Amino acid sequence: MNGRKLLHIVGSGPAGLAAAQTALEAGAKVCLIDDHPAPGGQIWRGGPDRWTDRRATRMWKTLHGHPDFTHMSGAQVIGCVDANTLLLETGEQGVSVAFERLVLCSGARELSLPFPGWTLPGVTGAGGLQALIKAGMPVQGRAVVVAGTGPLLLATAATAIRAGAHVAAIVEHQPWPRLSAFGLGLLARHRTKLWQAASLFARLRTIPYLAGARIVAAQGDDRLRRVVVATRDGNVAYPCDFLGAGFGLVPNMDLARALRCATADGAIMVDGAQKTSRADVWAAGECTGIGGVDKALAEGRIAALGALGLTPSARDLPRLRASRAFAALLARTFAPDAALKTMCRPETIVCRCEDVPAASLLPHRDWREAKLATRVGMGACQGKTCGPACAFLYGWQQADTRIPIMPASARALSQIE
Ligand SMILES: Cc1cc2nc3c(=O)[nH]c(=O)nc-3n(C[C@H](O)[C@H](O)[C@H](O)COP(=O)(O)OP(=O)(O)OC[C@H]3O[C@@H](n4cnc5c(N)ncnc54)[C@H](O)[C@@H]3O)c2cc1C
Repeated sequence: MNGRKLLHIVGSGPAGLAAAQTALEAGAKVCLIDDHPAPGGQIWRGGPDRWTDRRATRMWKTLHGHPDFTHMSGAQVIGCVDANTLLLETGEQGVSVAFERLVLCSGARELSLPFPGWTLPGVTGAGGLQALIKAGMPVQGRAVVVAGTGPLLLATAATAIRAGAHVAAIVEHQPWPRLSAFGLGLLARHRTKLWQAASLFARLRTIPYLAGARIVAAQGDDRLRRVVVATRDGNVAYPCDFLGAGFGLVPNMDLARALRCATADGAIMVDGAQKTSRADVWAAGECTGIGGVDKALAEGRIAALGALGLTPSARDLPRLRASRAFAALLARTFAPDAALKTMCRPETIVCRCEDVPAASLLPHRDWREAKLATRVGMGACQGKTCGPACAFLYGWQQADTRIPIMPASARALSQIE
């Protein structure tokens, strides 16, 4: 193999790290780009000093200090200048980076669904709350409720407990029969995951776990004071300081779209070698479909091999198949249920950047018409939060991504040639 091939990778989560390690070990050069100051992505947030997962440490040991490895941290890809040139903002500088082979490992973000009071200070996404706590937000002795659906609720509750918070309740929308079927699915094919889930549950056993329940409203004055939850026994109010409300994840596809890679079913389309619809762009991890860390690691490796024209080994494919089967089980169990639409009342704000309530959106037929009439999705986040919420509530698809894909400084933008 030509050892001097250069692979550009966007995203230094598990998928990006696995792709980078595979490429370096195969003799290629690697340029790894990520907007965070430290590698690790969402699950290994906080950087190498804080990692407890040996897989992350092993990969970073291969990469860090390697003469063929360049790490562009704190560098946000805000779009592309042309088909083969990325535009980055580093500090307030605009930098263009040309690539021949690109692997997109851009991860996912949380699906936030609107309910009365979700814009109060103290209410965040479940993963958002976890990220704030990991970044040092003090929660010692404070009351936390975690609500929504999916395994991230348990991970967030565990993080909050470790940081000294009192978790008043975990509110899971899925009913027990569906959760039991998930457990049986893990028993049949994913025993390690079953063991991980069981030990997490054991650590959280003293916390009320309300299956088949949903948020009615977050209430407070200048900040959150309580969460009202609909349970089988009627509405119950939980006094709390923080509510982490998460309803699953949505793949980050903006950069793929800007690069004209095809997307389908809410994820970047890839073939068996993780190649996108473009011959020189591959994708791996959550951005090709939600499946967790094992899928990200397996796909990152296969994407790098594909990008270098190499074939996966006999051990790679069963891993990939198992991780995709887990992803399918996750999707079957935790896909947000249509009943969650009832959380959003006519007066509930849907676009928090532009203060657009649900009642103003209802008369419109699609995203574009609603955008023109109400300014939904036209604020600072450019529809990153309300776009997926409107897709869930009204079935609207967002139109194509526009550059810059993230808020960027005028100075960086002015450097586009
Ligand atoms: C908020 C949140 C918290 C999570 N917490 C957990 C958890 O505790 N446990 C768990 O098992 N799973 C967690 N997950 C699920 C997690 O997504 C996967 O387990 C795993 O991290 C996926 O790896 P990945 O490499 O595909 O993506 P990620 O880990 O998300 O990595 C993607 C990386 O790409 C970077 N990136 C994206 N776009 C750009 C751009 N335009 N320019 C520069 N950099 C870019 C991101 O900043 C990020 O560092 C969480 C997900 C989210 C969204």
